[in-house]
Amino acid sequence: MKIEFDEDTCIGMYQCVAEWGDGFEKDKDTGKAVLLEADEPEDGVYVREIPEDAELDAKFAARTCPVDAIRVYDDDGEQIIP
Ligand code: SF4
Repeated sequence: MKIEFDEDTCIGMYQCVAEWGDGFEKDKDTGKAVLLEADEPEDGVYVREIPEDAELDAKFAARTCPVDAIRVYDDDGEQIIP
């Protein structure tokens, strides 16, 4: 399962940090979240694998984001959230 974070869309509400604190962190300078340990395949788009024991938290982070800046994909590459 993969998670993708779109920094441009993020408005820094930090619900994702509350839901998955090992995956997201606050960047108070930019006013955006940071997806930790992620690759940046496109400018401002960050992607990483979700550890199995963090899948629930990562899904909650994606669901709670008010601007849908976080997407979750299953192992077949299908977008499952939002
Ligand atoms: S919940 Fe969404 S808008 Fe808020 S910091 Fe996380 S990614 Fe950004």
